[in-house]
Amino acid sequence: MGIVEREAEGKKLEELLELYTEAGSKVAPSEFCFKPWDVSLANLTLGPENARKFIKLQSATITNPEGEDECVVTLTDITREKLLEKSKDEFISVTSHELRTPMTVIKSYLWMLQNGKGGNLTQKQKDYLIKAVGGVERMLSMINDTLNTSKIDQGRLQLKIERIHVTEILNDMIPDFRLKANEKGLELKVAVSADCEKVYADSGKFREMLTNLLGNAIKFTTNGWVKLDITKAGDSFIKFEIADTGKGIDPADIKRLFQKFGRIDNSYQTVAEAGGTGLGLYIVKSYVENMGGKIGVASEGLGKGSTFWFTLPSSYYEIPEALRETAVTSLAVLDTQAISSICPM
Ligand code: ADP
Repeated sequence: MGIVEREAEGKKLEELLELYTEAGSKVAPSEFCFKPWDVSLANLTLGPENARKFIKLQSATITNPEGEDECVVTLTDITREKLLEKSKDEFISVTSHELRTPMTVIKSYLWMLQNGKGGNLTQKQKDYLIKAVGGVERMLSMINDTLNTSKIDQGRLQLKIERIHVTEILNDMIPDFRLKANEKGLELKVAVSADCEKVYADSGKFREMLTNLLGNAIKFTTNGWVKLDITKAGDSFIKFEIADTGKGIDPADIKRLFQKFGRIDNSYQTVAEAGGTGLGLYIVKSYVENMGGKIGVASEGLGKGSTFWFTLPSSYYEIPEALRETAVTSLAVLDTQAISSICPM
């Protein structure tokens, strides 16, 4: 850090170190010193703007032989790791983006072939095409997962919160999932309780969340049913619960599931057959939490099915403050519509 010992001696910590969060707010020693627990802070910066270092800080309170408390602070310069991570993230996001365009072209031409635009096909050709389309769709969804993860990790996630109509979205999405479930001999049940029609969410991301959780429930279930239950959770939230009678999860594995690539051992075969990146739940968790909700899972164990759930705000005041501005505009639009339908002009 370029601080000479004799200059440092007897000085206060804040006179020597100016630590900031990555967002630029100052971090005072009181935030990490003399806490009853060990503190670990990543993503800090130190030093002037043109020579800023990225720092990881660890702090612990120890008692010296005289019985006084002392605070030991360790600072690690992680600037090199941070720069490497940044170029890795950029590389991933650029390559995924570039891969998506040709994949979309392939998908469109396969669609044309499937729909007879290139002439009649034999049954064998149609069977081969179904396999090719399946492969392209899996590849596109992997590319999308990778792109979404890199957006989240680089803090580039953009959400547009609107007051969305849950049943309208379900009416659009459920038939496809019912078809997929029925193909596997599973029943898909949906129940929406009263007063659960409206939530504040980004509608595209909300669809992605349901697609992932319902898709997983169908993917990891071979017998029985998959159920989507929508209920009120207190006065200000709506709870979406996706339960299945499938593979289930060992309670010891639950913590890992929402991490990146948090796949559990018994699912590798299913994933190899049905596809998946191990990023889906990580993405869903980030979306839910950024929209002001919570997410969780319960399972009584392997072979006993699982229940994933998440909540989203139904009250404007539970939308994270930074996102409220976008929500206000869409609410105003909705309200004008409501008014004009009550008082036609
Ligand atoms: P992917 O499905 O691509 O592997 P996800 O992040 O969506 O990635 O899920 C991570 C892991 O969580 C899965 O590989 C599987 O082990 C487990 N999992 C997710 N949903 C279920 C479910 N409904 N039943 C059992 N295990 C599940």
